[in-house]
Amino acid sequence: MPGGVKADVRTYQMYVNGEWVDSKSNKTFPVYDPASEEVIAQVPDANADDVNRAVAAAKAAFEDGPWASTTAQERGRVLFRLAEKIRQNAAMLAELESRNTGKPIVEAEFDITDVATCFEYYGGLATKILGFVNPVPDNAVSLTLKEPIGVAGQIIPWNYPLLMAAWKLAPALAAGCTCVLKPAEQTPITALEMANWLAEVGLPPGVVNIITGFGETCGAPLVQHPDVNKIAFTGSAAVGKIIVKQAADTVKRVTLELGGKSPNIFFADADFEAAIDGALFGVFINQGEVCSAGSRILVQKTIYKKFVDAMTEKAKKIKLGAPLDRDTKMGPLVSKDQYERVRSYQEIGKKEAKLAFGGGRAEQFAKGYYVQPTIFYDVTNSARIAREEIFGPVATVIPFEDEKDAVKIANDSPYGLAAAVWTRDIFKAFRAVKSLRAGIVWVNHMQPTYVEAPWGGYKQSGFGRELGPWGIEEYLETKQVHINLNEAPIGWY
Ligand code: NAP
Ligand code: MG
Repeated sequence: MPGGVKADVRTYQMYVNGEWVDSKSNKTFPVYDPASEEVIAQVPDANADDVNRAVAAAKAAFEDGPWASTTAQERGRVLFRLAEKIRQNAAMLAELESRNTGKPIVEAEFDITDVATCFEYYGGLATKILGFVNPVPDNAVSLTLKEPIGVAGQIIPWNYPLLMAAWKLAPALAAGCTCVLKPAEQTPITALEMANWLAEVGLPPGVVNIITGFGETCGAPLVQHPDVNKIAFTGSAAVGKIIVKQAADTVKRVTLELGGKSPNIFFADADFEAAIDGALFGVFINQGEVCSAGSRILVQKTIYKKFVDAMTEKAKKIKLGAPLDRDTKMGPLVSKDQYERVRSYQEIGKKEAKLAFGGGRAEQFAKGYYVQPTIFYDVTNSARIAREEIFGPVATVIPFEDEKDAVKIANDSPYGLAAAVWTRDIFKAFRAVKSLRAGIVWVNHMQPTYVEAPWGGYKQSGFGRELGPWGIEEYLETKQVHINLNEAPIGWY
């Protein structure tokens, strides 16, 4: 057992074929509280053998089990019941999520509400999967039917653990798929807690399987498994590229929600107070561990100096603290690895640009992976801190001349997940909206996310869309049906 394990550390099993099981190897790995650096749980260390067991269960549930003949209405009701369970247990789930990720409890509470809303939304959408009558010229009826893809392998990151699980499970179940979900190694426990209710809400064994393990030894065999029909992945661009290659041999459907380096653009005519708030919120919410973080802050030269000064003054007041403290606005980063990664970028930034605020560990905490919210300015868009995703509270402020210049800098990135533009001029705003190469564009705000609206990126931020009706499409196959209405023989021979 690793150091720091206490007697009250909970040992979890994982959920496969409707049963709680250990890994076949009986190995486990520790899960940490990033504020205390202590172990809070042990979970099974699943490898290829466990993947095989889970995929076999999901395949059987898809082909033979009662799920295959469950009506869309009943699938919808299952999701509503699951949402209700989430709402009833929201306080417990939010506390676990906050302890395990380090995110402020108030933010974790919003996440859990969003989890329930996501299951409700797709519960409603289950009965709205529409086919089509194709207007073919012959004496025939041509139909387009939508059918579930089959077994979905779902691999998710640690920044919004249960919410990312909901974004994957809810549309898949609404579509009629069965699932094998692998949470991130750092944050597997809220998904396992949710598994407690899956049978009770009416999911037959094997429809949802949750296996805990590492990317290389558990994620990779899931991606390569011939009986997995689709992989839905959210995570880094680096791993996304590996997944595309690994999925090629079995020609799997793949959707990728990857990282970003999203521009948050401030024109001189924007409401100044709202702009400063929006710049800080865009990059520091959830400790900056947000795929759509507005980590490149582009500011028009005429307000640039005043803007950097005001951002810095306001950043000084951000309250870092214990994740479970309701006043905390920023907790520790999720893990030691992530802490070291962000610290290294703080040092790289000091060589590449000017430091306005932060730049190191938050030394007021004796323990925990706390870093200071950090603002670099006079950053050039070619600097590493402006090109590479840091995934932590590090802002890079970049000056620009005019509209054309702003859009050029904004689009000069391998990523294209999100962008935001702040101005009082609706024409200018819409010109920017149309020019920005990003899957999500906000005007006079940054980060609001709705289950009703599509989420996903351009360029190396991935492909496919989650949420809204677009999210369910990614779990559906399209079948063309031709019904001949011509009673005479074909008459060709
Ligand atoms: P990550 O390192 O790419 O890991 C994501 C998931 O992939 C984890 O479950 C990981 O397992 C697994 N994995 C790692 N290597 C694998 C392999 N060879 N085969 C199969 N699976 C593998 O990303 P992260 O550090 O957890 O999360 C941060 C990243 O996610 C950032 O880049 C962020 O931008 C992105 N993100 C994107 C969105 C979006 O919607 N676009 C949302 C949230 C996060 P382990 O448990 O071993 O790590
Ligand atoms: Mg890993």
